[in-house]
Amino acid sequence: MKNIILLGATGSIGTQTCDVARRHGFRITALSGHSNVKLLEELSREFSPLYAVVGEEYMGDLKTRLGDTSVKVVPESEIHSVAAQCEGDTVLNAVMGIAGLRSSLAVLEAGKTLCLANKESMVTGGDLVNAMAKKTGAKILPVDSEHSAIFQCLDGNKVKKILLTASGGPFYGKKREFLDTVTPEDALAHPTWNMGKKITIDSATLMNKGLELIEAVQLFGVSPDKIEVLVHRQSIVHSMVQYEDNAVLAQCGAPDMRTCIQYALTYPERKAGLAKELDFASLAALTFARPDEDTFTLLPLCRKAITRGGNLPAAVNGANEAAVDAFLRKKIGFTDIFRVVERAYEKAFFIENPTVEDIFETDRAARRAVAEEY
Ligand code: NDP
Ligand code: MG
Repeated sequence: MKNIILLGATGSIGTQTCDVARRHGFRITALSGHSNVKLLEELSREFSPLYAVVGEEYMGDLKTRLGDTSVKVVPESEIHSVAAQCEGDTVLNAVMGIAGLRSSLAVLEAGKTLCLANKESMVTGGDLVNAMAKKTGAKILPVDSEHSAIFQCLDGNKVKKILLTASGGPFYGKKREFLDTVTPEDALAHPTWNMGKKITIDSATLMNKGLELIEAVQLFGVSPDKIEVLVHRQSIVHSMVQYEDNAVLAQCGAPDMRTCIQYALTYPERKAGLAKELDFASLAALTFARPDEDTFTLLPLCRKAITRGGNLPAAVNGANEAAVDAFLRKKIGFTDIFRVVERAYEKAFFIENPTVEDIFETDRAARRAVAEEY
């Protein structure tokens, strides 16, 4: 039986990972959440992990709820050591935001396989994460659908180009005048994927594609100018790889994250899964278009940040996390997200070879810069 450690178990990817674990009878030896104590209790009763990790302020509540079980409730400050030391060779990191970075590093340092949904680990600390994986020989398996697709299309030959597909989000084709009027409720209605709030807003601003571009550079060692973003409204082609002979390999499937989660967990094997079969004959068309980078300016900003490298991807990421949070709390408007992230980026000090502490300081500085804007 496969033993897995699941970080961010209470989120969108976390709960879908639980579906995959149920389907294949995987044992979850430790799980983490931040605030959703009710769901952590339910999952702990169902999977009987050795550890349940929760935000400090919710510890007492979860301990009381699990008082009649043998599950050990530990605070979030111990999430990295639990991830590194608990029984199980595979850790799926589905925490949201830069909060997932230290765990990714700890997992790799312990030589465990990292199934990575937490793209912000690669965006903010990609160089450090890669260096740690190289040092210990631990594997990183992508969970993000585009990166899972690219990973599946790699055939060992030199890559000429990566074609990174994007759904375009709920505001495809819209211009700034329209976007000025958008509310959190409008932005949370994604056309094809059902995801956590932060990534759903990132999909609406196309920041998600910018983060994924950086993630692809870090995961596959391809330079930013060799990654072409294509808007593909149907979310059937999850990304493509083009080789020197101009042959293009694409990975397709119904838009269901459980396929990517399962592939990372069963790699290199493929097993019967939970996603629906694709009926090609019923697909009217698969369309591809260039993104509107004049309107959705965070995508080119991310390309700029990773081209320069160092701590700059962490600066855009931190500013964006703060801006999305402010937008969801209705402190700023939708188009302010673009403005405040760009402003924070301009203010960031460049560090070419940042340490982990430099990355977190860059993140804090970017958040402060955003807070100054409203
Ligand atoms: P959710 O917001 O649904 O879930 C986030 C998880 O992280 C929850 O378990 C949450 O706990 C936990 N969490 C939040 N803050 C902290 C913190 N400070 N420390 C530790 N844990 C914390 O996010 P998603 O599942 O949508 O996304 C998770 C990651 O996967 C992101 O990096 C995202 O970009 C990536 N991803 C998601 C996809 C999707 O379809 N959802 C697709 C591809 C990538 P709680 O809820 O208990 O507070
Ligand atoms: Mg994705």
